[in-house]
Amino acid sequence: MAAVPGREASRTLPIGALFATSLLTAALLAAEAQRAVTYHRRTAEAVLRDYASLAAGEMIRRSATELGYRGCYTLIGALAREAERPDGLEGDVRARLARADPPTPAEAMTLLGTVFQWHGGRLDWMGPPLPADVQSWLSARLAAAGPAGQDAYVALQSNGAGEPRTFVYSPRPDGTACGFELSLPAVTQWLRQAFERGPLLPASLGHGRVTNAAVSVTVRDHGGVERFRSQLHEWPALGVEVPYGDVYSGVLRGSTVRISLDPAAASDLVIGGLPRSRLPALVALFVLTAGLLFTAARQLRRERALARLRTEFVANVSHELRTPLTQIRMFAETLRLDRVRSSEAQRRSLEILDKEARRLTNLVENALQFSRSERGTVLLAMEEQELAPLVDDVVRDFTPLLTGTGVVVRTRLEPGVRASVDPGALRQVLLNLLDNAVKYGPRQQEVHVDLAVGNGQARITVTDQGPGIPLRDRVRIFRRFERLERERQRAVAGAGIGLAVTRDLVVRHGGRCFVEDAEGSGSRFVVELPLSMAGDAGRGSQA
Ligand code: ADP
Repeated sequence: MAAVPGREASRTLPIGALFATSLLTAALLAAEAQRAVTYHRRTAEAVLRDYASLAAGEMIRRSATELGYRGCYTLIGALAREAERPDGLEGDVRARLARADPPTPAEAMTLLGTVFQWHGGRLDWMGPPLPADVQSWLSARLAAAGPAGQDAYVALQSNGAGEPRTFVYSPRPDGTACGFELSLPAVTQWLRQAFERGPLLPASLGHGRVTNAAVSVTVRDHGGVERFRSQLHEWPALGVEVPYGDVYSGVLRGSTVRISLDPAAASDLVIGGLPRSRLPALVALFVLTAGLLFTAARQLRRERALARLRTEFVANVSHELRTPLTQIRMFAETLRLDRVRSSEAQRRSLEILDKEARRLTNLVENALQFSRSERGTVLLAMEEQELAPLVDDVVRDFTPLLTGTGVVVRTRLEPGVRASVDPGALRQVLLNLLDNAVKYGPRQQEVHVDLAVGNGQARITVTDQGPGIPLRDRVRIFRRFERLERERQRAVAGAGIGLAVTRDLVVRHGGRCFVEDAEGSGSRFVVELPLSMAGDAGRGSQA
């Protein structure tokens, strides 16, 4: 009753497909969840960037208005008034502006660079002159400028001589003009004031909780020089860069403001905040699912292997039973029909009958014991006794089974070694080991059964001159249904439960059973049982 490979494959396929589908579903679910989180995050980031644009608009409006109105407009007005005087802009213009009536505010004066006048073709400097190329650039711009529009002044930005400059002038109807260079370093203070005047984000957006501490602002002039930075941190993913454009006569034209928002403030600005990536959790879940499926698959494979072993077991037991039964029937028949000629032949026939009946008994005993052990109904009747007579008895009983094998069993039994044992169980243990020694060893070999005290234990060994057990299989062979591959190839009958029963019984005695190398090629099976202590004699029956 060997397993049918075709049928197994047909069962493996749908189960494998089921597992693969489960794994694929888990992967798809994880990917879908990750996609949802990514989408949600992108949307939230886009909203936050919109808010950053709002803040940028507010920063531009504030700073341009303050600089343009309270700064440049005030200065241009004061300059124009001074220019109207009879002596024009001669002398120390700065001192005159400060003394003028009304006096020019000191705050506005910080912005005042070199003052200039344009007389319809000539540029005059009231202070240190500017580089020649900047002068000619400015002259060209002033010459090309039309009459004054609605704006009170005009702002011009240059990057001449590798340095950004801003000029502010007020054209007059007669084609002349007066103006000044805007001190760009002084702009920093004005930008700071604009920033500090209040939250850049409307209170309604962040429930009034989002202050400027969560907003990073950087302003660069038209030459790219940083003129203001509110803090060291920037959050580029949640930032925007907005140009100043022509706000307030273009006083900061060409400058840009870069604004980004602190992700920590996201929860106040967007419902649910910025969703955090669930990737590690999803990967962990996926790995867990894969692990569970893998474990399930392994378990299933084990179950199948066990089912196959059980099937083989039934086949093997039947096969093992068949040989002695055939022998018994054959010799019984011979005797019954009185076909035996000599009394010697008759004696041999009876010996064989006895031997096969014993083998059968041992086999059935093993099967029963195995079944009891599987069901957990093993009962041992322990009694403290000397082991040497017991072992000797078993060897004596086993001798008929050696008939025709040429095998000799020799014993060396130390007297006085006592242990608490179930005699029936110990008999079965030894019979199994002896049976294996004969079954797997060569004909004409010597099998030694020894009893001694070793390791503080009663030590019974069965040593044969057979092929031995490879090191890697020495644990495995004590498991149920396990047989060495060579036995299958040599077609040696066996069900693979003898050593499992042996080990089970020994362990129930509180001992242990293992195999080691014997001198030469053979194997030595060792049974160690706890020695009886003085006064331990009365231990009763137990499971
Ligand atoms: P069975 O003898 O029915 O196969 P056992 O549980 O008694 O089952 O033994 C398990 C396997 O261990 C055997 O199939 C055999 O391969 C190996 N084995 C057991 N005893 C010996 C031995 N004395 N020498 C060599 N191999 C052995």
